[in-house]
Amino acid sequence: MSIIPLTKEQINYLDDLIFEEGIYSYEELVKRIGGPRPPIRKAIRQLKGVVGFATCPQCKRDIVVTIFNRNQKFCCIEHKKKYFNTHRKKTKLTICKNCGKEFYQYSFRNNVYCSCSCAAEHREMVKREQKELKK
Ligand SMILES: [Zn+2]
Ligand SMILES: [Zn+2]
Repeated sequence: MSIIPLTKEQINYLDDLIFEEGIYSYEELVKRIGGPRPPIRKAIRQLKGVVGFATCPQCKRDIVVTIFNRNQKFCCIEHKKKYFNTHRKKTKLTICKNCGKEFYQYSFRNNVYCSCSCAAEHREMVKREQKELKK
């Protein structure tokens, strides 16, 4: 089965949708143009200013990446928020330096105490020990 290319009008319309209206969602573009996907995808790739495609990590839908939205990784702000909210889980197992309790924290954190009170308690203890040593 050969791919029937888009007409010149369709290509111009596609160009307008992306560069005039700023529609980067591949699904939305397919809906606006109508018809089978392969020729639409091919035509998008060939547009001047189009870099390629990216996939939104949240909805797994494609986004058109152009020279104007090079760093766009999500199809919309909502999905970006959603993604970070669901993927920011406390996975780093740490043992509290004060009470010895195991606790989980975000992988990018480096807390050594399970709580503020433990941090304060430990600080007090160190102070006391230093005082004892001075005696
Ligand atoms: Zn998305
Ligand atoms: Zn603790």
